[in-house]
Amino acid sequence: MNEQLQKLVKQADYDLQQQFAKIDLACMRNSEKVLNAFQKNKIAEVHFGSTTGYGYDDIGRDTIERVFADVLGAEDALVRTQFISGTHAITVALFAMLRPGDTMLSICGKPYDTLDSIIGFDENPSSLKAYQIQYEQIDLVENDFDIPKIVERVAQKNVKLIEIQRSRGYALRYSLTLDKIEKVIQAIRKVNQEVIIMVDNCYGEFVDEKEPVALGADIMVGSLIKNLGGGLAPNGAYIAGRKDLINLAAERLTSPGQGKEVGPTLGINKSILQGLYMAPSVVASSLKTAIFTSYMLEKLGYKVQPKFDEKRADIVQTIEFGNEEKLVKYCQGIQSGSAIDSDSVPMPWDMPGYTDKVIMAAGAFTMGSSIELSCDAPIRPPYVAFQQGALTYEYGKLGVLKAIENIL
Ligand SMILES: *Cc1c(COP(=O)(O)O)cnc(C)c1O
Repeated sequence: MNEQLQKLVKQADYDLQQQFAKIDLACMRNSEKVLNAFQKNKIAEVHFGSTTGYGYDDIGRDTIERVFADVLGAEDALVRTQFISGTHAITVALFAMLRPGDTMLSICGKPYDTLDSIIGFDENPSSLKAYQIQYEQIDLVENDFDIPKIVERVAQKNVKLIEIQRSRGYALRYSLTLDKIEKVIQAIRKVNQEVIIMVDNCYGEFVDEKEPVALGADIMVGSLIKNLGGGLAPNGAYIAGRKDLINLAAERLTSPGQGKEVGPTLGINKSILQGLYMAPSVVASSLKTAIFTSYMLEKLGYKVQPKFDEKRADIVQTIEFGNEEKLVKYCQGIQSGSAIDSDSVPMPWDMPGYTDKVIMAAGAFTMGSSIELSCDAPIRPPYVAFQQGALTYEYGKLGVLKAIENIL
């Protein structure tokens, strides 16, 4: 590391203390919630056991779902290895709750890219659209909900489900803080008590001290190769919220009549429990890595979002490079700073579902895991990298410094 960079890191260590103290406080509160849920549900070695076949009477699985519900402030939860990832769980939730003729309304603009085919923006015989489920959207205004427009639309009572996406996805908007989400939910409830409010909670868990269902959302969905998996869950996702809706989701994931009663755990119960146990501190490490990145890259002259001292709603950090070469070099630096596949060199590539070439850096223990330090970017102006994760702050910091050295 050159002298100037060393000096900057020293300054960062000093200047970030206040931000890090806030992160530690949230980590403490969330750890307390997890520990209380483990104790309340009397977690013991028997819950690490496994089932095969149909997975009847899997006491570990059923208790894990109670623990998740308690931690998240939900009535019930569905936590399954049969969910491939967040996208699949969102698909199951939407198909479980919507029927032909229903309308789904997104109130924060266009949802995450992988939902395009689910909703039916592109021709797909398996989309919601192919089942005569309508889609409408209301865009954000200045990074916040357009409450008057939303209230006017939902007062008409013919919207079945509202979708709120907490994290930014690949959009250049701010992620939505819980304050904003709570306000919009209250406004909706004044004019409509029936509409189902669903939150895509990916990347948001444990960033704050509460989760959207505790603030009035009916249901929320997230991935276990992101925040709540704590870097230990090998795959899977969760849906949490109202008991009747969880039941619908279970009957869609498995089959009508079987619902939550089936689903073998194939040896993953301990990893899921241990992952949840670690998750508050892993999310805190990811947040500290994001804050460090934001501080360093801003000092080096790049546009970053959020800034190091801004309130965060998720673990994602963006850096605007303004040109392709620096963006690619940064991502390659993140890869070479990883513990796994450090000798691979990621290159911009055509990927299914994306219009532009995409570069993806991820040297992870779990393939595709983005609670581990990872960085990806569509190759288009203004050449923005989306970085997230780090299992420990120390490894996150080392990876980011490697990436910075690569662009200097
Ligand atoms: C990652 C993500 C998803 C999809 O989750 P996967 O686990 O990658 O399938 C959905 N929505 C948002 C906002 C995400 O960040």
